[in-house]
Amino acid sequence: MRFLVTGGAGFIGSHYVRTLLDGGYPGYEGTHVTVLDNLTYAGNRANLPAEDPRMDFVRGDVCDFALLRELLPGHDAVLHFAAESHVDRSLESAADFIRTNVGGTQTLLDACLATGVERVVHVSTDEVYGSIETGSWTESWPLLPNSPYAASKAASDLVARSYWRTHGLDLSITRCSNNYGPYQHPEKVIPLFVTNLLEGLQVPLYGDGRNIREWLHVDDHCRAIQLVLTQGGAGEIYNVGGGNEQTNRALTDMLLRLCGADADMVRRVPDRKGHDLRYALDESKIREELGYAPRVPFDRGLADTVAWYRDNPGWWKAVKHPGGDTASYVTGTVLPVDGGYVNR
Ligand code: NAD
Repeated sequence: MRFLVTGGAGFIGSHYVRTLLDGGYPGYEGTHVTVLDNLTYAGNRANLPAEDPRMDFVRGDVCDFALLRELLPGHDAVLHFAAESHVDRSLESAADFIRTNVGGTQTLLDACLATGVERVVHVSTDEVYGSIETGSWTESWPLLPNSPYAASKAASDLVARSYWRTHGLDLSITRCSNNYGPYQHPEKVIPLFVTNLLEGLQVPLYGDGRNIREWLHVDDHCRAIQLVLTQGGAGEIYNVGGGNEQTNRALTDMLLRLCGADADMVRRVPDRKGHDLRYALDESKIREELGYAPRVPFDRGLADTVAWYRDNPGWWKAVKHPGGDTASYVTGTVLPVDGGYVNR
């Protein structure tokens, strides 16, 4: 077996690849992987083994049809993680989000058709549904994305579904809630807050902190993706929720506790534009049809994640302060740290 994993140098894709290579998916121990990733600011070669006889790393763009056409023959399945993934960046400029998330998905799927790839999983997000005050979304809920990031993912879901409906491509879509775990870029709320606290810096909390997100450990998300890959139906969509709702304020309090910091380390910053209040998924479909259930309890997963960042300063300092220069991260990227990277 050989899989092609787009965006495999990012947070979730690299977790999938490491787990697959480590034999974490029974029956797939001998699978070879091609990682296709163009190493944007979010992609990190250090997230993957330096060398593994079962992994090939290709630095390339998911929008490059000629490259995909050359690479894809011989692959049994494609797992499509590559995306621009940070909401706050999409508020500053949406162009890369439309290009990669929409155009890249269309290009990839055209190349899958052209080369006869037999199975595709398109990895998407709960944010395509918008915001919900009470209850939870099933897969048939209307798509009402509120940020350019969410809109680009919703568009990519519709493109993906159309390639199943029109061309008969054997493709499934997953829509997952907020992920956390090791190797997540420190622009996202949990690693940002943890690494700030480890550096003795305040953490920027958007607005009154009452926005609610549902959290899932990256290992549970990747196990769900593997289940969908191997047992999911063509043209089907599967919600993957954590069932663990937290306000940003409650999450912040947990992180303060785990890092041994006081409430005065929190600084309120103006709320994000168009900030979704609450995300909540109904995941009964994947539970009932594929037998999925998350395994990592939030308390333990969060404590382990904080411990990982504490134990791996070399990894996050190289990402957060490229060239060892604190200022270059704070002021040189799209948004200043103080702007508050609070949610993905
Ligand atoms: P990430 O930003 O950590 O990784 C994205 C990866 O894609 C990076 O390695 C980047 O270099 C690569 N990439 C970006 N543009 C590319 C291009 N044009 N060509 C090739 N590679 C490109 O993101 P993540 O958090 O790992 O998310 C992975 C997927 O899961 C995304 O599709 C995202 O929408 C989805 N998702 C994420 C979450 C979450 O909480 N992080 C939750 C649900 C769904």
